Amino acid sequence: MLYQRSSALFSEAQQYIPGGVNSPVRAFKSVGGVPLFMKEAKGAYLTDADGRQYIDYINSWGPAIVGHTHPTVLEAVQKQAEKGFSFGTPTELETEIAKLIIENVPNIDQIRMVSSGTEACMSAVRLARGFTGRDKIIKFEGCYHGHSDAFLIKAGSGAATFGNPNSPGVTQGTAKDTLLARYNDIAQVKDIFSKFGAEIAAVIVEPIAGNMGCVLPENDFLKELRKICDEYSSLLIFDEVMTGFRLSFGGAQEALGIEADLVTYGKVIGGGMPVGAFAGRQEIMNCLAPKGAVYQAGTLSGNPLAMRAGLTTLQLIRGDDSFYNRINQTTETLDIEVSKLLATKGIEHTINRKGSMMSIFFGINKVSNFDDAARADHTAFNHFFHYLLERGIYLPPSGFETWFISDAVKGEEVSKTLEAIEKWEYKKD
Ligand SMILES: *Cc1c(COP(=O)(O)O)cnc(C)c1O
Repeated sequence: MLYQRSSALFSEAQQYIPGGVNSPVRAFKSVGGVPLFMKEAKGAYLTDADGRQYIDYINSWGPAIVGHTHPTVLEAVQKQAEKGFSFGTPTELETEIAKLIIENVPNIDQIRMVSSGTEACMSAVRLARGFTGRDKIIKFEGCYHGHSDAFLIKAGSGAATFGNPNSPGVTQGTAKDTLLARYNDIAQVKDIFSKFGAEIAAVIVEPIAGNMGCVLPENDFLKELRKICDEYSSLLIFDEVMTGFRLSFGGAQEALGIEADLVTYGKVIGGGMPVGAFAGRQEIMNCLAPKGAVYQAGTLSGNPLAMRAGLTTLQLIRGDDSFYNRINQTTETLDIEVSKLLATKGIEHTINRKGSMMSIFFGINKVSNFDDAARADHTAFNHFFHYLLERGIYLPPSGFETWFISDAVKGEEVSKTLEAIEKWEYKKD
């Protein structure tokens, strides 16, 4: 059996950890089968508990953008560790990383570090509410902003825009302040604003969506959001937890030329350590404690090991003029060549891609929102996933997730991937 050790570890883990995992998607519920327990990661490859190697197209869901355990990052973290793991005081390092980011990202004057993307988005919404003095937010179906209560909201029936809790434990009281809209549906957003405009603190959006698979904004969607937020004096929050430092150093703001009022970060910013951040212009960030009245704090925020991993990763990217060209080119090759192979086989599909983010949807030729993504043939994806996994290629374990290509993935890995896909036969079983 291919995954013998992982199987045994998963059985044991389920005894001590709810569902055997510390974050649900890792349990492979969507694709079925046993989740692989990894024990090592280097460059483009993961090694599982059975000693099998995989070309990694997830890269810890984005952070390992320079490849796993990059020698420069490793050395920097080792040196930092010798100086202490955590001080609970300010450090020079925190200013250094803040400065690097602010000098190279459009439209932000100040940044606050936290320990996860969830914290970043939760705090950005609180800040937006504090700044505007309003309660409601708009979010889009299929966009994920972490697991804080305000975001675990699904569209209700009937009047589609009123949110309902999407998880037991989220109160109706919380749900009533989150309004739901379809991604890429600006008419619906306008309609919501015409009814609730004066109560809307912020619109939060993934500028390139990555949590319903990769879905791109269409028809000036983001530009229109910018306009309508300005019209109603609501804040536009770009959740750049995935796109920040990935689409370009300045994230989607730079890549798409649209400026948000608040931006949230995570994933790449920590270079594999638990880091998130939120940032914005002076006037808004001034409202944050201890300067302002909007409270937000964190015992391990700005942790020196995490800051060192993040800073070194960002410096590697910043110091390499062809970095984004390279990862984008690799991803474009994958996109084009995989699509050709599938077309030759007569398999209906669509590939959405922006920069080094991409997803394949089977059985559908256009995916612009969550409903489209849900209509795709996920049985086919699951078959594709397991077929490639058996051949040492590790895709995200769900058709609703995005592939994140790292700089360690080179021609050799791409060729191996294409060779495997060329031999794939989709049999409904
Ligand atoms: C991953 C993600 C989050 C949540 O970040 P965590 O670090 O998992 O809490 C928020 N927003 C987006 C867009 C994400 O992709």
